[in-house]
Amino acid sequence: MRLRLQPDETITSYVARSLFINKHDSNFQWLKQVRSTRAGVVDVATEHGWPGVYGFNRFLHYHTPYPLMAFLKNDRDVSYSTWQYTEPWLYYYECDSAFCALCVKEDVETLGFSYWRRGFGPRGPSICVKHNTLLRKHCPFCQKPFGRYHSIDAMWKGCSGKYLYEAEAIRNEDAELLREATFYQSIMNSKFHLSMEVVVKCLLDKLEQDVGCSDLLGERFLAVRDRLRVISKKLLWDRTVSNAYYFDMNNKYLLECALNIYSDFDQLSSDVAKLSGAMRPIDSLWQAYQSGKTYSAQFVEEDYQYGVAIYSVNFSNTGRDDGIFRDRRNIVFQCCNGLRGYKYSPLLTLTVGDATLPVPKLSREDYLRFMSIRAA
Ligand SMILES: [Zn+2]
Ligand SMILES: [Zn+2]
Repeated sequence: MRLRLQPDETITSYVARSLFINKHDSNFQWLKQVRSTRAGVVDVATEHGWPGVYGFNRFLHYHTPYPLMAFLKNDRDVSYSTWQYTEPWLYYYECDSAFCALCVKEDVETLGFSYWRRGFGPRGPSICVKHNTLLRKHCPFCQKPFGRYHSIDAMWKGCSGKYLYEAEAIRNEDAELLREATFYQSIMNSKFHLSMEVVVKCLLDKLEQDVGCSDLLGERFLAVRDRLRVISKKLLWDRTVSNAYYFDMNNKYLLECALNIYSDFDQLSSDVAKLSGAMRPIDSLWQAYQSGKTYSAQFVEEDYQYGVAIYSVNFSNTGRDDGIFRDRRNIVFQCCNGLRGYKYSPLLTLTVGDATLPVPKLSREDYLRFMSIRAA
């Protein structure tokens, strides 16, 4: 029996739940191969009717903690998950799990079962915002941490004769933890990317306005302000050379700054919206990926009607220019073939590789279905 993937269920939860229910059905044993690999995620996405890199990114967005990484976007980046689609192993994959006892109870009452949620993993907050309870990362019955040391099947078969819906809910009393969890939950649920350049500007402006009334005082204030100024300069400079390698290098730090400098997510979002004009919808970049970690951004957009990849390169006409080395010789770009780096050439040549990742070609019926999913 093919199970219905829940809206915020982790990939690991879906795979484990499917294998638990279908343990004797040979049609589902292929799921055992689905680990933290690109191919595994693509297989599950394809099974749900979501093709190619679009399906991969859709899965990353709704079923892993990746939105925390993708939420801030460099204006030059037109891919949701940069070059993740070209990597064999996924770095942003939920390998440990946690649960909220009250969410599990509610699920059992409404669905008849519960599941592991993407926002409750190791990179997420330690609070369930809905119930203001502490997430349980250890089994309440044997105290082992879920994931590597304790099978997540405990969600369905229990442990030591007890079930997770019987676990005691522990109320959170720390307002700051709740604020932090609410902030991160808003990021996970955001319908738009925020421009990284504009966010840095907003953070610097707010930091200057609020000096004296935040905890970022004295040396710490200066250190944060100086680092933000360096990032701002770097982003402006990157704009001229479109250096893809550094596109998301400061994401984690900027999110931490945003959490510390802004009291709530809506205020940050509103300040950024005032300066940004049109903001990019979160699903608008799902159909493209970066090809290789090259110095100049190269992108592949997939077309499922014709089964072709549309390649675009976004490079400086001054040759290699990474700020450390300067070399005006012409470059042969190793595009689309997954090779990282480039070769010098005596001729002004732009070479497109012949090994793009396969692009699915959908039947007319499947293509129309796909377009209706996109529009929904
Ligand atoms: Zn909950
Ligand atoms: Zn246990």
